[in-house]
Amino acid sequence: MKMIRFRKDGRPQWGWLMGETHVTPMRKLDGEPASEVWRLEDLELLPPAEPTKIVCVGRNYADHIKEMGHAFGADLPAEPGLFLKAPNTLVPSGSEVAYPEWTKELHYEGELAVVIGQTARNVSEEEALGYVLGYTNALDLTARDKQKTDLQWIRAKSADGFLPLGPVLETELDPNDTVVRTWVNDEPRQEASTELMIFPVARVISYVSRFMTLEPGDVLLTGTPSGVGPLARGDRVKVEVSGVGVPLEVRIV
Ligand code: MG
Repeated sequence: MKMIRFRKDGRPQWGWLMGETHVTPMRKLDGEPASEVWRLEDLELLPPAEPTKIVCVGRNYADHIKEMGHAFGADLPAEPGLFLKAPNTLVPSGSEVAYPEWTKELHYEGELAVVIGQTARNVSEEEALGYVLGYTNALDLTARDKQKTDLQWIRAKSADGFLPLGPVLETELDPNDTVVRTWVNDEPRQEASTELMIFPVARVISYVSRFMTLEPGDVLLTGTPSGVGPLARGDRVKVEVSGVGVPLEVRIV
């Protein structure tokens, strides 16, 4: 099923997407028939997660490691290489994201995002997917020039608006068998099966949960495939994880 988060009458809330065009509030589905149905286009979308932290895998597809050359090490990693994005990065699908004046190399990275549903501490790889609420599309915006020169990636990865997420959270998806695609101005730029991940979703959740408690709403970005590249002001970026179904779309301004 597809969950959606939105603001209605000034109040953030969750609902279920019905078909492609309508939304019903989640609170009405617990045993009661839904009495309210809204048109999706009339709602103000919100990112489908309220994280305490956003944990990201840096190099999780071999082809992307190759295209980055030696900038961050050319060998396949033995353990997931993690970094954090801050919650100020989150913006919904449909946003306009400002190209910061302090970077000359803003890059797109289309990714599968995982939203945690229950507190996960020291979970095994076998049980890890049971802690997931759902899956969605993510655009891990990156100031590539600053990633190479700053000591830490705070500016390169956590500037305001650097994580467009959504619009829907798909609860039924096999994260090992879906395709991540990115387009810029409708030109295809990235396409890869999540089967190609070096560290599959369950292994990353288990790994992180051994040292960091994952809370409901926390977000995991699973890494980007090859085909990353620069953006310009005016570009339209679209990311779609095939199993999620509804694409994420933003404009760089
Ligand atoms: Mg990334």
